[in-house]
Amino acid sequence: MKRLRCPKCDRYVVFDETQYTEGQTLVFVCSHCQKEFKIRLGSSRPAAQERDFGSITVVENSFAYRQQLPLHEGDNLIGRRNKGTEVDVPIETNDPSMDRRHCYIHVQVKNEEIVYTLRDNNSNTGTFLMNEILGPKDRVRISSGAIITLGATTIILNPSQAPTSED
Ligand SMILES: [Zn+2]
Repeated sequence: MKRLRCPKCDRYVVFDETQYTEGQTLVFVCSHCQKEFKIRLGSSRPAAQERDFGSITVVENSFAYRQQLPLHEGDNLIGRRNKGTEVDVPIETNDPSMDRRHCYIHVQVKNEEIVYTLRDNNSNTGTFLMNEILGPKDRVRISSGAIITLGATTIILNPSQAPTSED
């Protein structure tokens, strides 16, 4: 059996891969959120998708469930999801200490390598990298596994990579 994560709600979908042949495209409907999504069996390349610029994982806490949210090239404004506030990476949380427009992760491709830079967006509670608060003008390069704290919420940087299975 194989497990996949629903791209919308991030819960697991389990299926029996031995029932299908390699290269076949499967369509799943998530039993939690009804999101429909496709995968291609045996192919390490995602089927006709945009380039993967990595993602952030929001660690589950009393304000939020675990979330994985994709990043895109350029500035990614991150904050507490709120109707009427437009951000690139909206985090669904009740954490009152996270601003609606809290910080930025800038994604840039340099010499075939993706460079991630973190900066605060004049937030009320500040942006912390590995428990150190960023100064107002700090632009800090971050890499795989960087632990960022926004209010009472922890997020982790996942660099660009092919999806991994958790067996
Ligand atoms: Zn789902």
